[in-house]
Amino acid sequence: MSTAPVAGNPEITVSRTLARARAALEATSGTARLDAEVLLAQALGWSRVRLLAHSGASLDPARACRFEALVERRRDGEPIAYITGRREFWSLDLAVTPDTLIPRPETEHLVEAVLGVVAEDGTATIADVGTGAGTVALALALERPRSFVLGSDHSAVAVAVARANAVRLGAGNVSFIVADACAALAPRRWSVIVSNPPYVAEHDPHLLTGDVRFEPRAALVAGPRGLAMLETLARQGPARLTDGGWLVLEHGHDQGPAVRALLSRAGLGAIETIRDLSGNERVTLGRRAPTGR
Ligand code: GLN
Repeated sequence: MSTAPVAGNPEITVSRTLARARAALEATSGTARLDAEVLLAQALGWSRVRLLAHSGASLDPARACRFEALVERRRDGEPIAYITGRREFWSLDLAVTPDTLIPRPETEHLVEAVLGVVAEDGTATIADVGTGAGTVALALALERPRSFVLGSDHSAVAVAVARANAVRLGAGNVSFIVADACAALAPRRWSVIVSNPPYVAEHDPHLLTGDVRFEPRAALVAGPRGLAMLETLARQGPARLTDGGWLVLEHGHDQGPAVRALLSRAGLGAIETIRDLSGNERVTLGRRAPTGR
């Protein structure tokens, strides 16, 4: 986009600026119009509603320039969530950084699955393994205020982001710690162990396209078939569940049979898989026997 903005030029209106940015983004983004609006709102410190209501307003050059820089980043493929530092999940406004996976809509099924096994006034203890920005842990902590939630992540930077999100959202019943894989689970036993682990296969071509190129590889990739972390969770999780406790795992669209087999082999029962809105198998849960055997 060639746009050295001219000071005081009334031609640089919101609507013209949006139209030009949209044209510039069309080649590399499937959501060019939305991207342009979100980025201009960001550059101006406005809401998108205000932007659309004031489409004839003229931009001051410094702001127009700031907007240019954001559009450039987007044109180079950077995810909108990393440019704005924000992503909505479960109606929560979460801070995200390139150290954290960007929350996905399908992960809301993981939250729903846990809410289905923890009573509203329940005092469950819930561990979220690989919490990233605190996405799942925070949604659960806010939905189940009498429960205690622990989120762990191997990345200290991610944990710092999660802690800041907890403070900003006023979630007092959640803690975050830095720990590898399942290391945070011992020595306690948990009513629920939940995880959206890395589950993409090492050479999955999907890793070379779109937003995932910018996301932390360790949050996405788990061995040749994407099952390495799911196997670890199935191997180490059940011993750390209370009697009657649940292991609840997000996984890839084609990993349902493998994950059901893992949970079954680990001695869990009541195994069930939930499909996402695209109809793909996405979340599998299993229960440790209610009477300790
Ligand atoms: N669903 C994500 C993707 O396909 C992967 C997330 C994950 O590995 N937990 O990009």
